[in-house]
Amino acid sequence: MTIDVGVIGVGMIGQDHIRRLTHVLSGVRVAAVTDVDLDRARTVAADLPDSPTVHDSGEDLIADPRVDAVVVTSWGPTHEGYVLAAIAAGKQVFCEKPLATTEEACSRIVDAEVATGRRLVSVGFMRRYDDQYRAMKAVVTGGEIGSALVMHAAHRNPSVPDFFTSDMIINDSTVHDIDVARWMFDDEIAAVTVLKPRVSSKARDGFHDPLLVLLEMASGVIVDVEASVNAGFGYDIRGEVVCEDGTVELSEAAGAIVKGAGRFGGRVPTDWRERFVRAFDAELQAWIDAVAAGGTTGPSAWDGYAATVACETGLRALASGVREPVTMRERPDLYKES
Ligand code: NAP
Repeated sequence: MTIDVGVIGVGMIGQDHIRRLTHVLSGVRVAAVTDVDLDRARTVAADLPDSPTVHDSGEDLIADPRVDAVVVTSWGPTHEGYVLAAIAAGKQVFCEKPLATTEEACSRIVDAEVATGRRLVSVGFMRRYDDQYRAMKAVVTGGEIGSALVMHAAHRNPSVPDFFTSDMIINDSTVHDIDVARWMFDDEIAAVTVLKPRVSSKARDGFHDPLLVLLEMASGVIVDVEASVNAGFGYDIRGEVVCEDGTVELSEAAGAIVKGAGRFGGRVPTDWRERFVRAFDAELQAWIDAVAAGGTTGPSAWDGYAATVACETGLRALASGVREPVTMRERPDLYKES
């Protein structure tokens, strides 16, 4: 069985997902594309083997009866409308993070999905599919080194474009660590504090980089995330969970380690595409397989809602300089198992 997918938004990650849907993954075909820039959509479609339909709008693409399922990779503020339209059409939708940019918008999606009585929405938190994070979670949940106490994490980007802001360090970078924390400990975030270390000389005026984001889980575990976006040397993702009887940490992603002249070392990934390429592949293949079986899989609309609420709390903490509690609605029964 081949799933015909429609892709809304053919920018950077949209094109990367189209590449994997077309050339890497199985059981799927890109049947339709659209973008606010229709010329870009036509250019992307022209390079694809199955001559996808170029729709004038995301709404038209979702309504196309040949489109079995929808991938949303447009700009974040447009996600809510497309996800709601896909739910209304009864189609499975994979939405890149964020699910939506405000708690209220995420809540509307949760309400709409709950009203259908089944899960249709999956959110693109691909770290859950990374081999290293999965191995770390297996150790943490297996209990072999005791209960978790603390997690140290770092999210270092080599550089960011000029439009990047301190708020985006939380909304666009730390959001992945927020999802990892919830998933790693099967727990919600109870409070967020943001500390502002000495500012990097590479940060623009008025831009606070790095940030130290402290996530207090409901269980009492504390996750500290050093988020730096002008690290220069590469894309460096780190994680270590400290448990009562030991620690577990992500290994270097570098492939081969070279030793010579009294030193050892390896390659630092250049960006998130390189570091998480296999996780993105696994994430979308799992989603396609689930869609083919008539369902969905992966992070849910509830996970998207919880991440956005934690980000909004983080922005409040960044502005206030103090610990900010996280307040969420009650988790609907539909998501009790996710
Ligand atoms: P991007 O390069 O700006 O691509 C977004 C595309 O959507 C652009 O072609 C944009 O056109 C188009 N678009 C804007 N408004 C639209 C609308 N109303 N309908 C249809 N298309 C529209 O951004 P990106 O980096 O690919 O990011 C896209 C999404 O993926 C964001 O939500 C981002 O957070 C997420 N993302 C996730 C990861 C991850 O690690 N999981 C990594 C990167 C990005 P214009 O350029 O003309 O506005």
